Amino acid sequence: MTRDQYTFTDPAKLYADIEPKKQEMPEPGLDADLSPRADLGEKSYRGTGRLAGRKALITGGDSGIGAATAIAFAREGADVALSYLPEEEEDAQRIAGILRDAGATVLTLPGDLKDAAYCRDLVASTVEGLGGLDILVNNGGKQIYNEDLTTLSDEQFDHTFKTNVYAMFWITKAAVPHMRAGSTIINTTSVQAYSPSGILVDYASTKATINAFSKALAEQLAPKGIRVNAVAPGPIWTPLQPSDGQPPEKLESFGEQTPLGRMGQPAELAPAYVFLASAESSYVLGETLNVNGGMPTP
Ligand code: NAD
Ligand code: MG
Repeated sequence: MTRDQYTFTDPAKLYADIEPKKQEMPEPGLDADLSPRADLGEKSYRGTGRLAGRKALITGGDSGIGAATAIAFAREGADVALSYLPEEEEDAQRIAGILRDAGATVLTLPGDLKDAAYCRDLVASTVEGLGGLDILVNNGGKQIYNEDLTTLSDEQFDHTFKTNVYAMFWITKAAVPHMRAGSTIINTTSVQAYSPSGILVDYASTKATINAFSKALAEQLAPKGIRVNAVAPGPIWTPLQPSDGQPPEKLESFGEQTPLGRMGQPAELAPAYVFLASAESSYVLGETLNVNGGMPTP
């Protein structure tokens, strides 16, 4: 029998032999170029009908955590719209193929999250193309390290906030009017919201904002029956990291500071998103689910 996400496994040994290599790629980076390749659950995620008939929109759905989530959603029975940058077409098409193999209707909707018009069109195209929207995953994100505030450009500060915070606001604002009671919104924050690194001042600030946004909106939308939650990943092996998310020399020890002593794989994040998307989490809202290898959080 091949391993799936339910197989009894030692979490300290799982994936422990996957050693990140020192590497650098231009932003946004491609899963196709990642060495070693990340596990998106292509071979392991087994669905059990938990999202049958749902319509989902996932930003950053071409690679990393978003792609692993897309694969899981499709195998749980959802139709999926993927948002990503035009230069990520190769990754997006590979994921779209895996979703279609699972029987999902798939929309590929490239564009720039920094553009409010694209964010609004994304929601309109999803509603039209899938016939509704029940699950919104705001997951696309920008992380570029910077060692000195005096060299952190106004442009980078603006782009990090546009991508990570404004896009979430624009997309969610456009999406909520289409969401019926029972729908769910899941935002990707980070352990950086609680334990910010000195080289990620702009990024960590956006992730703390995402937590507060999610909790406030959860309270506001609860009476409408729309639940808002967040997932806070720790160090996960995705193209975000070698495309200037970290200094290249830090990649080789990426994740070793966690109690499990290793980095996580996108496949280990997907079940958290499935749980928060599905009706089994009906009494869970305003929550941040930490998936970080054991680092303490408030
Ligand atoms: P990733 O590079 O695979 O995904 C990020 C995606 O964001 C890209 O694929 C891209 O499609 C999208 N994106 C970035 N800028 C965009 C723009 N201007 N317009 C449209 N799309 C844009 O990396 P990932 O690590 O899977 O990132 C997913 C989320 O997880 C991000 O929000 C990231 O901050 C968060 N996160 C990652 C880690 C980690 O260690 N990898 C840890 C904590 C949080
Ligand atoms: Mg990508």
